[in-house]
Amino acid sequence: TGVQTCALPISNLRPVFKYMKKNYTLTSSVGEHSFVSTASEGSSSVQNEWSNNRILVVDDEQKIVSAYSDIFCPEAVRGDKLKSLLKEFNIQAEESVSSFQLDSVASGMAAVEKVKRAVELGKPYAVIFMDVRMPPGIDGVEAAEMIRQIDEDVYIIFVSAYSDYSAYEMQCKLEKNMLLIPKPFEGDSIRQMAYTLCMIWEREHSLSDEHQRLKSHSKLMEHQATHDGLTGVYNRHYLNTVLEVELSRAYREQTSVGVLMADIDWFKRYNDHYGHLEGDRILRKIAKYLASTVNRAADFVARFGGEEFCIVLPNTDRAGVEEVAERIRLGIEELKIEFTQSDTAPWMTVSVGGTYCIPESNEKEKVMEQVLSTADRLLYEVKKSGKNRCLVESC
Ligand code: GH3
Ligand code: MG
Ligand code: MG
Repeated sequence: TGVQTCALPISNLRPVFKYMKKNYTLTSSVGEHSFVSTASEGSSSVQNEWSNNRILVVDDEQKIVSAYSDIFCPEAVRGDKLKSLLKEFNIQAEESVSSFQLDSVASGMAAVEKVKRAVELGKPYAVIFMDVRMPPGIDGVEAAEMIRQIDEDVYIIFVSAYSDYSAYEMQCKLEKNMLLIPKPFEGDSIRQMAYTLCMIWEREHSLSDEHQRLKSHSKLMEHQATHDGLTGVYNRHYLNTVLEVELSRAYREQTSVGVLMADIDWFKRYNDHYGHLEGDRILRKIAKYLASTVNRAADFVARFGGEEFCIVLPNTDRAGVEEVAERIRLGIEELKIEFTQSDTAPWMTVSVGGTYCIPESNEKEKVMEQVLSTADRLLYEVKKSGKNRCLVESC
């Protein structure tokens, strides 16, 4: 059907069709007009690679606007005639996926408004054909400069018989995506230019989609490198980084840093009794609780390993560390997670060892080792002396 279709009055667009996939639709609304033309190289409606072929014509002379309208949407394919052609060739306009849309305005200010609205609606123009002299009000170059502030990507083509600016001046004002063509213009070249620029616009935007995809991929990689896969809180590797930074800062500013180690009581028994998957679910639940219970922006929760979590509390003194430790211990009891095998309570409990210090040296590794081992030793003492308790000491 491709050959038949190209016998339509828009057949001179044929060279462009090979860049498109299957279906192609042309819609236009200039002034009173609103119509669609469709051509198809096949019967299937495969998604076309064009998603923007919106064009704006800016000219104060109605007969020039009509000329554009004739160029992009020849009379012969309009209205009923178009419908009968579509029917004859068995083309369903609704199923065609790409549209070529022509809007027009008669002044520079109206163009700026139109572009602004298009951007706000997420339907920017790909190409603007801009008259230069449009009295009264701002001229085409001024309008284009304002449009550039709103839409960096739109191609602006100045179409002018005479101009108050040199081509060089225009180029300097807009920097990129600008062309200059003389009036009177020739239909075929205008049309080809519009198609080509629409395609370039589309290609540039699909490249920036790819850029977005890469960016979110690297974000994902970064997340994976810093977070624990099971619980979603930070991982031990990242804990080391953060703790190092916080201890350095505390040394410089001579403030107190708190560190808590919280370990689930009898967790081996929990797994043995309820199963490993249920154990995993509880680990996630507890991690989520911990992350929600520390409330300063700089507070930091990491999974230290197995069923042990480490909480870093920058700018926190003894009273603060004790308070957070007890809040955590009590909060987990209050979750009342059934645990029939625990010797401590009928629900799940945790033991917490906590410490705090104002670093006296900037030997990061040494200070870090000291802080972590103190918290760990205190945790061990709690475990030995009955569990479900907090013990906080300076280090
Ligand atoms: P304590 O009260 O002295 O802390 O005893 P415990 O059983 O909690 O400690 P222990 O170190 O003997 O055992 C830790 C258990 O935690 C071993 C394992 O069954 C469980 N565990 C560690 N990591 C995971 C995990 O990723 N998923 C699940 N489901 N269980 C884990
Ligand atoms: Mg004019
Ligand atoms: Mg344990």
